[in-house]
Amino acid sequence: MANKAKFQAIRGTRDLLPPETALWNRVEQTAHAVFATYGYGEIRPPILEQKELFSRSIGAETDVVAKEMYIFGDPRLTRLERLRGTVKAEGATFWPSDVNSVDLFSMAVGKFVTALDELLNAEESESYDREQFVRRSVDLNQELAKFAQLASQGLPSEFQPQLTKSKERVETILGFFELGESLALRPEATASVCRAYIEHNMQQLPQPVKLYYMGPMFRRERPQKGRYRQFYQIGAEILGGPDAPAIDAELIEMLMTFFAKLGLEGATLDINSIGHAADNCRRGYVAKLREELIKVKDKLGADSQRRIETNPLRVLDSKLEHEQAIIATLPRIADHLCDECKAHYAAVKHDLDLRGVAYHENWRLVRGLDYYMRTTFEITARGLGSQNAVCGGGRYDGLVELLGGPPTKGIGFAIGEDRLILSLQESGKGAAPQGRDVYIAWMGEKTYATAIRAAKSLRDAGFSVELPPVEQKFGKALERASKLGARHALILGENEVASGEWTLKTLGDGSQQKLAEQALLEYLQKL
Ligand code: AMP
Repeated sequence: MANKAKFQAIRGTRDLLPPETALWNRVEQTAHAVFATYGYGEIRPPILEQKELFSRSIGAETDVVAKEMYIFGDPRLTRLERLRGTVKAEGATFWPSDVNSVDLFSMAVGKFVTALDELLNAEESESYDREQFVRRSVDLNQELAKFAQLASQGLPSEFQPQLTKSKERVETILGFFELGESLALRPEATASVCRAYIEHNMQQLPQPVKLYYMGPMFRRERPQKGRYRQFYQIGAEILGGPDAPAIDAELIEMLMTFFAKLGLEGATLDINSIGHAADNCRRGYVAKLREELIKVKDKLGADSQRRIETNPLRVLDSKLEHEQAIIATLPRIADHLCDECKAHYAAVKHDLDLRGVAYHENWRLVRGLDYYMRTTFEITARGLGSQNAVCGGGRYDGLVELLGGPPTKGIGFAIGEDRLILSLQESGKGAAPQGRDVYIAWMGEKTYATAIRAAKSLRDAGFSVELPPVEQKFGKALERASKLGARHALILGENEVASGEWTLKTLGDGSQQKLAEQALLEYLQKL
């Protein structure tokens, strides 16, 4: 018997199903509509990017990049990697006086060279450095020719040391090829948006450029409620132009408007300023923070102790009960901002007041990376347990430059759509099962053509219609209609077709009326 093992969605991923997908659509349609009113255009970057884009932007040592990214190689490079493995194996047992061993080694290298030629003759690829590969391929071919020349001498003992040397040089050259994992499923999209801004010379457009995106992101985290390995984000970025506080405030206003339009309850906005990476600002603060942390080191947990050295700001993220009282006594960044950053923060708050956006100041809201600066914010929502952050955002004026673009101001946010949906469902804003406006109960073969016409004109008018594919008995049809949550049953028997007066039954109260086709449409439209 065939293997009938059942397939399941892989851990941390899930199927989004009706009726829930109707809520997803509502959320996304609302985002399109609200963001458009603020002048944002949609960008759809690819889900696959060079791994390097994320190690550079998010930071190679962060958990997201070091532990959670889904990375893989270009299959053609993986093939070369395998062939290189064979060369290595033959190299390990190489014996310069043994014809068989010498042959096996040169055959293994030959296979690698052939595959490499195929790769270089094929379509261009971003997953390897072509120029470098071409140069190394020339070196490799030269060395391999030398090896073959020596081997063809019949392996006399005086040539054997040279042959071994040549074999080693071949191995060294092979070792230079970078064949490893170079592609990644995006763990977030800000880096992609910045890459696209640079790639498409968007600095030539009127500044700032306002973009938003929505789509799946991938992180290999431990799955739990509100935390998935494939999850969805809706995000927006403002790139270029000035760093006027009004830009930060308007972005946040848009976000809160979006949440309000969705009816999200209990959304709380926390804001902070983390200054900029300078000695008279954040760096000075971090030094001071480290000093104070060293004094209380013994009272902290292992993670925080480690972070005193690696990234003291992250100690402030700690959720450990026993660390809370200690953290409350630590120096606060607001007292260490430079004058410009202090003024910027005050202006952002003032602007939020003008816009009627309520916020809490949260001095513990920080980001660990250098290019983050000034405004940071986070929104938490109800009904999510410990994973209650639905949105994180902040200013990142150094990022575009870090990725090879011109100096460019930037600010943005990312909403966790899965969590947003969960919170809406918890507060009873979930989607109802999709009903039907009309169920067409047709009986008798002669009525079928009329049933098809009725379904078409009702659907053209925008009604949701169920047209059973086979004839049903009257009772059975009504039973199915109510199971599907239909509001009306259109009863088409031979009498109705002959007279042109159709019977419409309202399933809620059981009432019935006779209507001609046009009158029926008008009646339903009025409801
Ligand atoms: P981040 O890109 O880490 O700043 O995350 C922004 C938002 O995305 C968070 O506030 C969460 O709502 C959401 N998010 C991040 N990681 C996950 C995940 N693994 N599963 C579901 N939502 C997530």
